[in-house]
Amino acid sequence: MIYDIIVVGGSIAGLHFATLMKMQGRKVLVLEAKAHIERKICGEYLCPKGVHLLQKRKSDHLLKDFEPIFGMKLVSGRGRLVESYFPETEQKNYGVSVNRKILEERMLAHYLSYNGEISMGKQVTSIDTSMDIVKVVAGEREYRGRFIVGADGRMSRVAKFFGVDTNQKTKRVAIHSYVSPKKTLDRLGQMHLFEDGAYIGVNPIDVQESNISLVCDSELLKGKRDPRDILNEYIQKSEDLRGQFGELPQETHVWTVFPIQSEVKCVASKKFALIGDAGGFVDPLTGEGMYNAFLTAEILAESILENGRAFDLSDASSKYIKLKKMQTDEKRRLNIFFQWFIRRPILVESLAILLSWSQRRANSFIGIIGNVYRPLEGLTKMIL
Ligand SMILES: Cc1cc2nc3c(=O)[nH]c(=O)nc-3n(C[C@H](O)[C@H](O)[C@H](O)COP(=O)(O)OP(=O)(O)OC[C@H]3O[C@@H](n4cnc5c(N)ncnc54)[C@H](O)[C@@H]3O)c2cc1C
Repeated sequence: MIYDIIVVGGSIAGLHFATLMKMQGRKVLVLEAKAHIERKICGEYLCPKGVHLLQKRKSDHLLKDFEPIFGMKLVSGRGRLVESYFPETEQKNYGVSVNRKILEERMLAHYLSYNGEISMGKQVTSIDTSMDIVKVVAGEREYRGRFIVGADGRMSRVAKFFGVDTNQKTKRVAIHSYVSPKKTLDRLGQMHLFEDGAYIGVNPIDVQESNISLVCDSELLKGKRDPRDILNEYIQKSEDLRGQFGELPQETHVWTVFPIQSEVKCVASKKFALIGDAGGFVDPLTGEGMYNAFLTAEILAESILENGRAFDLSDASSKYIKLKKMQTDEKRRLNIFFQWFIRRPILVESLAILLSWSQRRANSFIGIIGNVYRPLEGLTKMIL
C-alpha cells in the first residue's frame, strides 16, 4: 500500500491534519511514537481564536465540558494587577481550559470515525527519499508514501532528517506542575511576570486543579537544584500567587521541559512539510502553541486539497510556505519582541500602568494575545 501522505506525530497538529485529509478521502497514515495518549506538558489554555477555529469546523464537541477562560489577569513584577477580558467581535470571545489527554483522545476518536489509520507505540527512526516514493521506518515496519508531514513537535526528527536548520538556542526552561488552589479561582488565565524576566502562567482547569508553568533561566537549575523548590520560590515571591497556592506540598510532582523555543528556517519542500511545533515555536508566554498547531494543519490541508490529486506536491508546499508566512509571521515577530520586552522590568511596569488606566485598552491588548485581533489591528485599538 502506498499512502498519499504519511504523518509523523499523532498529537494536535498531526491528528487535526490527518482528519482533514481523511474527510476528503485521502489515503493517510499517522505514525505516533507513544503507545497511549498521555497528558502532555502544556499550559492547556486554548486561545479564543483556537475555539473559533474548531467551532467553524463543527468540531466543538472536542471541547465539550471544558471550562471557559474569559480573559487574563496580568501581574507585573512590582505586583501591579491588570484584569482584562477578551473583546467582543463576531468570533468567540472566550478561550478554554483543556485537559490535553482528554482533548487528544477525542481527536483520535474523531479521526478513527473517518476510518483513519494510525500506528501507535513505534518511533519513526528513518526516512528514505532516494526514490519517488518515500519510505518511513517505525519499529520493525516500513511504510511507503508520496509525501511526509512532520507533526512531531519541537525536536522534530522529520526536520532533522530533511536537514532543516532548527535554531534551538535558548537558555530558558519550563517547570510545570498541576496544583490545588486554596480557593476557587476566577475564570481568567493568569500571567505573573517577575523582574528577572521569569514568568508564571496559571490556568484554572477546574475548581480542584490549576495548571501552572514557570519559565525561567536554565542557570537556576545548576547544582542539581530541585525544580520544585525553584517553582515554590517564585510562588512565594508573589503575594498574589502565595495567596492562591501557599507553599507547594513536598509530594508535588513537577516536570522540566527544555528547549522551549525552536526557530525553523524551512517549513516545506518537495517531499515534506512541517506543521505545529515542528514548524517553529516561540516560548509559551502567549499560550498559542495549540492554536498554531490547528492553524498550520488547516493551512497545509488547504494547500494540498487545492492542488487537486496531483502526484507531485511541490506546488502545495510552496503555497503552504506562503500562506503560513502570511497568517503567522506578524504574531510570531510580536512574540519574539515580547520575549525581549518582559526582560525589561521598567517597560513591563509602564505597560501595566498604561493598561490599568483603561479597561478598553487592557481588553484590546489581551485581544492581541488571544488572537482575537491581529497585532496591528489590536495596537490601533489600544492607541485610539
Ligand atoms: C511549558 C509549556 C506550556 C505551554 N502552554 C501552552 C498553552 O497554555 N497553550 C497552548 O496553546 N500551547 C501551550 N504550549 C505549547 C503546546 O504544548 C504545543 O505548541 C503543542 O503541543 C504543539 O502540538 P504539536 O501537535 O505540534 O506537537 P506535540 O504536542 O509536541 O506532539 C508531537 C507528537 O509527535 C510524537 N513524536 C515525536 N517524535 C516522533 C517520532 N520520531 N515518531 C513518531 N512520533 C513522534 C510525540 O510523541 C507527540 O505525540 C506550552 C508548551 C510548554 C512547553
